[in-house]
Amino acid sequence: MPLDMLVSGRVATFAGDAGFGWAEAIGIRDGKVAFAGSAVDLESRADPHTRRIELEPGEIALPGIIDAHIHLVDTALAVDHVDLSTAPTLEAAMAIVRAAAERVAAPEWLVGFGWDQRRWGVYPSADDLERVAPGRLVSLWSFDHHSLLASRAAMAAASIDASTPEPAGGVIRRAADGSPDGVLLENASGLVIDQIPQPEAEDIRRALIVLGRRLLEVGVVGAHEPGSLAADPSNRILDLYADMAGAGELALRIRAGVQDDGLDNAIERGLRSGAAIGGSDATWLAMGWLKLFADGTLGSRTAALLEPLEGGGGTGILTTPPEALASLAARAADAGITTQIHAIGDAAVRAALDAVAPTAGAATHMPRLEHIQLCHPDDRRRFAGLGVAASVQPIHLREDAATARRDWGARAESGGYTWKSLLDAGAVVAFGTDAPVVPIDPWPGIALAVLRHDPTWGTEVPPYGPHEAVTLEQSLRAATVGVATTARDRLGGRLVPGSPADLIVLPAAPRASDDGAERAAAWAEVRPRLTMVGGEVAFER
Ligand SMILES: [Zn+2]
Repeated sequence: MPLDMLVSGRVATFAGDAGFGWAEAIGIRDGKVAFAGSAVDLESRADPHTRRIELEPGEIALPGIIDAHIHLVDTALAVDHVDLSTAPTLEAAMAIVRAAAERVAAPEWLVGFGWDQRRWGVYPSADDLERVAPGRLVSLWSFDHHSLLASRAAMAAASIDASTPEPAGGVIRRAADGSPDGVLLENASGLVIDQIPQPEAEDIRRALIVLGRRLLEVGVVGAHEPGSLAADPSNRILDLYADMAGAGELALRIRAGVQDDGLDNAIERGLRSGAAIGGSDATWLAMGWLKLFADGTLGSRTAALLEPLEGGGGTGILTTPPEALASLAARAADAGITTQIHAIGDAAVRAALDAVAPTAGAATHMPRLEHIQLCHPDDRRRFAGLGVAASVQPIHLREDAATARRDWGARAESGGYTWKSLLDAGAVVAFGTDAPVVPIDPWPGIALAVLRHDPTWGTEVPPYGPHEAVTLEQSLRAATVGVATTARDRLGGRLVPGSPADLIVLPAAPRASDDGAERAAAWAEVRPRLTMVGGEVAFER
């Protein structure tokens, strides 16, 4: 049978457990890799109808990136939101809010993200919002989406006042007289978020189509979606994905999960990890994981720690009690749904490992921990021992390095962001971005994992825990085959016979043979010349 397409040049197949698995060419038929090997071998199988993609000298082809952790809906919708992520000061941020209030008429909500009290040296407050958007409904996520700044009107809509008790796993920041100051930490943010009207399905759909194109442009061909940040007890978003899959509107392959508010509905509907959603083709749209939260974040000082923060400041927040994590994971596992748990501090990592351990053997997907920014050395080998995957986002270290050094002291570099140690201990490591908390571009994180340094730090800041640097090959594998492996997919993220023909062609500049730091920096800015999904060229520059 003739081939539909022949890609020849230097092709990294990621066959086997290590190495690039270079091949001279791959042949593609019916959307899958049919053969990989020498160009001469494959030439004999081509015929005049076979399309040929010949790589330029220096170019390489490799499996397309699969983002292990991207909130697709939130990322898609964030394009229209108030973006404070580059505002250098509180005053600059308030000017942005004022402009948004003039653009968007009341009674519409003003929603946005990106404030950072570390950058501004001060927490924003509802009083600040009142000055620039008086009487308006305002809801602004912090940079890490773990704290919310709400206006007085937004708090009134959520019935938050001086008499409101602290919600479980959350904190309402208050003035001396007990009145709320507008900042809601962790689970307290849900009080306001639940009041914001959800966008129409059609608006989400349009935004997702645009996002899909942007992802293909940076070389992302697959996404693991850990549920959207808004409440979705009836899993409407899964229905929307299924609709889009049916209409051929998914630009990339999606594994979509649910959060705990959607678990009952997912069980009722018989959704199982790895299985199709609705009538979808499971290779394009499959059920992902149940996403739970063990703790908060480093930046909000709510990551759960075994030892207190340096200089006092407590041990953070276990946002879901460990017993509840375990019982939810067990309930999901009984229904065929595997669990992933957000765990940033070392106490959260330990609690999350304990919670998923009893379910690991029977799970369809590998149970996963998400983020793992601080991990006690004793817990590293438990990942491989239990069969739990480590899903991490190298790019978080770009913003976190200074805070981690300050808040975690000596622990920061011995136990923080220890991707090499996890690999050395046999863990399956998967890379992702965590957009919309950070941009969708996977490449700065892939480079950072190799360099342990980011260009934005300047040369005077030394690399962070340089002994934890991975090789370029390990970094690329973690962003492709590592991600697929967490779904127990043996063919995804590779270009071996039977693999989906999902690949990218990268230009000459970053040569894959260059594992040195000086060349790894070039990978932070790389852009594919071509992105192929299912054997179709989906993007070409
Ligand atoms: Zn996330």
